[in-house]
Amino acid sequence: MAKVKGDIIIDIEKCKGCELCASACPQESLELSRKLNSKGYHYIVKIEDNCTGCTNCALVCPDSVIKVYRRTEKSQEKVATITNVTGDITVKVKS
Ligand code: SF4
Ligand code: SF4
Repeated sequence: MAKVKGDIIIDIEKCKGCELCASACPQESLELSRKLNSKGYHYIVKIEDNCTGCTNCALVCPDSVIKVYRRTEKSQEKVATITNVTGDITVKVKS
């Protein structure tokens, strides 16, 4: 079975800099930027390209800021998108 690699997209304008996602990331991939978004918050950024697509960051984010993608190394095909959290969770899996 091909190894799964993850990636995330961060909507920096929605981020409030609470760092819950950084604490929840087992890969230590996330850190607060020194820059501010338009609302005056330091926003979260990816600092390592080692995401496994575990979805922890998206699951703990109270503002649905992070989308998680999973790809196999073989196909680079997007197999899952997960958007979270306090409301609906949307999971799309390509068959
Ligand atoms: S999906 Fe998992 S490994 Fe990737 S950034 Fe989020 S918490 Fe870290
Ligand atoms: S949990 Fe959400 S709001 Fe908090 S720092 Fe991470 S992305 Fe930003």
